Amino acid sequence: MEIAIIAHDGKKTEMVQFLMDFKALITSKNIDLISTGTTGKNAEKAGFKVEKYLSGPYGGDAQIAARVAEGKTAMVFFFRDPLGMHPHEPDIAMLMRLCDVHDVPLATNPATAELLIRSI
Ligand code: PGA
Repeated sequence: MEIAIIAHDGKKTEMVQFLMDFKALITSKNIDLISTGTTGKNAEKAGFKVEKYLSGPYGGDAQIAARVAEGKTAMVFFFRDPLGMHPHEPDIAMLMRLCDVHDVPLATNPATAELLIRSI
C-alpha cells in the first residue's frame, strides 16, 4: 500500500515523530512511503525508506496529486501548517481536491493520520 507523506516546514518535526511512533506498523504492513522532497529527506534521516518527489514549492504536491488521480496512492498524510503562507497554495488545493474527487483518505493533522494508520 502506497501512502504519501507531506509536511510543511512548521510540521516536519511532527511528521517525523508520527512516523517514529508508527514505525513498527509501517514496516509490518509493507507500506511504501512516497513524499515531497524535503519531507522525504527528513524521513530518510529517521531511517525510513521513501520515494522522494520534488520539493513542494517546485511541484512535489502536484506530482503526488497526479499519483492520487491515477489511483496509485491509497492515503495521503498532509500535515499542513495553517499559520504559514505557501507560494504553492494552488498545488496544495489541487492535491486536496483530487483526494476528494477520487475518495482517497486525506489526513491533514497527526490525530487524523493516527486514526487512519490504525485502520490499516
Ligand atoms: P517539502 O514540501 O517536503 O519539499 O518541504 C512540502 C510542501 O511544502 O508542500
